[in-house]
Amino acid sequence: MPYDLVVIGTGPGGYVCAIRAAQLGLKTAVVEKEKTFGGTCLNIGCIPSKALLHASELYEEAGHTFGKMGIRVGAPALDLAAMMKFKDEGVDGNVKGVAFLLKKNKIDSFQGVGRIAAPGKIEVRSADGKIETAETKNIVIATGSDVARLKGIEIDEQRIVSSTGALALAKVPEKLLVVGAGVIGLELGSVWRRLGAQVEVVEFLDRILPGMDLDVARQFQRLLQRQGLTFRLSSKVTAIDAAGEKLKASVEPAAGGTAESIEADVALIAIGRVPYTQGLGLDAVGVKFDNKGRVAVDAHFATNVPGIYAIGDVIAGPMLAHKAEDEGVAAAEIIAGRAGHVNYDAIPNVIYTFPEVASVGRSEEELKAAGIAYNTGRFPFTANGRAKVNLTTDGFVKILADAKTDRVLGVHIVGADAGTMIAEAAVAIELGASSEDIARTSHAHPTLTEAIREAAMAVEKWSIHM
Ligand SMILES: Cc1cc2nc3c(=O)[nH]c(=O)nc-3n(C[C@H](O)[C@H](O)[C@H](O)COP(=O)(O)OP(=O)(O)OC[C@H]3O[C@@H](n4cnc5c(N)ncnc54)[C@H](O)[C@@H]3O)c2cc1C
Repeated sequence: MPYDLVVIGTGPGGYVCAIRAAQLGLKTAVVEKEKTFGGTCLNIGCIPSKALLHASELYEEAGHTFGKMGIRVGAPALDLAAMMKFKDEGVDGNVKGVAFLLKKNKIDSFQGVGRIAAPGKIEVRSADGKIETAETKNIVIATGSDVARLKGIEIDEQRIVSSTGALALAKVPEKLLVVGAGVIGLELGSVWRRLGAQVEVVEFLDRILPGMDLDVARQFQRLLQRQGLTFRLSSKVTAIDAAGEKLKASVEPAAGGTAESIEADVALIAIGRVPYTQGLGLDAVGVKFDNKGRVAVDAHFATNVPGIYAIGDVIAGPMLAHKAEDEGVAAAEIIAGRAGHVNYDAIPNVIYTFPEVASVGRSEEELKAAGIAYNTGRFPFTANGRAKVNLTTDGFVKILADAKTDRVLGVHIVGADAGTMIAEAAVAIELGASSEDIARTSHAHPTLTEAIREAAMAVEKWSIHM
């Protein structure tokens, strides 16, 4: 009997889609080419990076802030191998969790590279060359993304690394050159700076974090510089010579001009990610791509070929695990005949550095470009009681609300725990709340979340603690 659904790829998009489909009574299977489930996010992305960010943050705190709170532990010593083991165990626990959930939901799994031989037919080639075939009424492509490469620069994952290599360096580099000031470059740059590397970030644009609210990005850059990261904006790395003991990177002004040479022990190429569709056979079945090489889908995640859907990093939209998950749920519901939907205006975006940066909804630049009149409420953590006692006063909350209706359009936070706090703002935007709704909602004292409330009060100029 054919499956109702076969999902290719078990990242956060694929495995969540399969579970939701099984919950709705669809006979479901997944195909995964790697040995473990969980995709980029669990194996070489969100989870290992957050493990290293957490451990390195505590390492830095032990060295810098414990003493201020009366905790004398002496200078902390780094055992990098043990830190990597801690990270690997965290990954292991998470990927095993996915295996358990797939089994619990009676989802079959095929291990090997999946190829769509025809609509309704998937061939899976395992590592030993054996081919199995699965017949299915529906297919969801959830094959994710891969590292974007720089022409002429070969990633060896030892000295010239992608995020994958940067999550597993055997020793702390004296100098780390980060190419690209996006989320991944800044998170991993922060990890290695905390562990002792000198970190220089080269960015093509004249700002860090493209797409993020500019005011937030500027403040965040200042904070990172204070921590010791250095930035070369409006610059591009054109070549890296790996012949000598040190790498020699050629760096030119973005607009062209004289090249300079920067020495480094390790170079992290973090210029973004590209959709991954290798080996899927999409051309042969006639699945169309958009102009950026992503699988083209309609509002129901359907490709142009009936019965073939796509979700996650392989389609348009922010390359985020929870966006992939949300699409996985919606696609499964649509295939099961329900009304699945994703609200792209309410997807939070978090950078897990210290302080964290989190946002949901529109930036000021986007509102200006769209000609939408808005009011701004802003509140700094220096005026928040809990932040003061915790010694985490860096950053602020900014709320952007529609000038006519007061509806919350965007919330931006730089500060400790911003990534956890942004959930409140996401709920507010999802439910169409006004800034006054947030301002009049009781927030526990003393918490950092009071800064969100105060920023909401500031929209109508009545914040109490400023
Ligand atoms: C270093 C790093 C840190 C990140 N941190 C965060 C974060 O903190 N928060 C966040 O939201 N996002 C983060 N991301 C992004 C996040 O990992 C992705 O957005 C997310 O994994 C996308 O999920 P997906 O299901 O679309 O694809 P993926 O997770 O990429 O999964 C795709 C799966 O498909 C499999 N596959 C591909 N082709 C085939 C085939 N033909 N046959 C069988 N299997 C196949 C792959 O092996 C893989 O397991 C991070 C990414 C990186 C690299």
